[in-house]
Amino acid sequence: MKKRIGKITSIYSLNILLLFIVTRVIHVSHNQLYILVIIFFVVANFEVWFLNFWQNKETAELTIMKNRMIATSAGETPRGVLAEPTSPYYELLEQFNELQSYVRHSQYSANREINNYQTLLASLPVGVINVGRHHMIDVFNQTAADMLGVEMPEVPILDSLVIRQFTLSEIINHTFNTNQRQHSILNLMIDGEARQYDVSTLFHQSGSNAEVMVMLYDLTEVLKLERMQADFLANASHEFKTPLTAITGFVETLQGDAGADEETRTQFLQIVADEAKRLSALVSDILSLSRMQHKVDEKISNLQISAIVEQQLEKIDTKTVTVHNDIAPDFSVSGIASDVSTIVQNLLTNSVKYNKTDGEVWISAYKDTQQWQIKVSDSGIGIPLNQQSRIFERFYRGDESRQRKIASGTGLGLAIVNEIVNQHNGGINIKSQVGVGTTISVILPL
Ligand code: ADP
Repeated sequence: MKKRIGKITSIYSLNILLLFIVTRVIHVSHNQLYILVIIFFVVANFEVWFLNFWQNKETAELTIMKNRMIATSAGETPRGVLAEPTSPYYELLEQFNELQSYVRHSQYSANREINNYQTLLASLPVGVINVGRHHMIDVFNQTAADMLGVEMPEVPILDSLVIRQFTLSEIINHTFNTNQRQHSILNLMIDGEARQYDVSTLFHQSGSNAEVMVMLYDLTEVLKLERMQADFLANASHEFKTPLTAITGFVETLQGDAGADEETRTQFLQIVADEAKRLSALVSDILSLSRMQHKVDEKISNLQISAIVEQQLEKIDTKTVTVHNDIAPDFSVSGIASDVSTIVQNLLTNSVKYNKTDGEVWISAYKDTQQWQIKVSDSGIGIPLNQQSRIFERFYRGDESRQRKIASGTGLGLAIVNEIVNQHNGGINIKSQVGVGTTISVILPL
């Protein structure tokens, strides 16, 4: 600005000096002097205007460059300036354009990395929280929000506003106080449900600030599965023990004096044979269940359901009941033969086993475009309402079946059916009335 005022002052001074010299050299009248002053004034103004015009033309590129720099610092995409080779700033502009393209490239890489980091953080199956200076959280992923049962917060946020679990806050504070990583398994109540989390904390330094990274891993399902396996083992051992004790007991008795009596021997040997049969049924059901869980892809084929029903009926003693197979011989679906056979076998066995003498069994099947259904109804003893939700549990046997020994069984038949149906994302419906009968329908997707 100062430079500009200097230049304008010199133009005016030069013009006044020229005017002074002219009036000294040529004698002019008063009127002519006025005209000369006006002419010199107009000329001086024109010179100033021309100077400005010339300077603006030269600095236009610099002004654009300056504006682009301001825009870049404000976060806009860096843009270059068109540099004419004739421009006095050509080299400067070329350098500027290179710098802008470098910044553009760096911004692109940084954005990509931020995106990758955020996608990774959001999709991690582990809850991640970073607590920085003054207990402000600056990283909090969706998994952490889900696990702690809170809304996804806007970070930064004070940790006490999000982490309302006392034991978890304690671990974070302990990490800050000891500068040592911590590890613990916490039992937390989340939305009224007890959940178990593996919590690891990591003490780290960011510049001169101490920070704590928290990682949460949900163990609830894993621990539940472990408990289920332990229960299964305990139940299975118990179920094995009963027939084994009976077998060893009766065999020992037979080895003694009681074995000499023909009638006792026949009676005891029958018990031993029955218990051995029960053991064998248990082993085969447990094997079936285990095969279900570790099944490799099996072949899908076209299955004639009526024929499968007939095959399974041949394996069951149906002398005391009348069976109506109402499935059309040409009713077919595509599926895994062994799975469908196992379902049919277990449903039919139960409908005969838990029936009355001279009772009846009806079997039917339906399908639409999405799914198919097999329905087995019987006129048997029925299942009390309070037992209906439990009959699919492993080793569960209805009170009637267990106490009065209506029929032999392992308590695994419907658990196996349930396992197969779950694997195929199917469903099971049950309708039953004590003393009237039971209908169990299995629905499988096509
Ligand atoms: P199991 O028949 O070996 O006892 P399941 O798993 O097949 O084991 O069945 C579990 C229980 O469900 C049976 O003990 C019985 O009490 C009940 N149940 C199953 N099917 C029927 C049925 N059709 N009628 C009456 N009760 C049934």
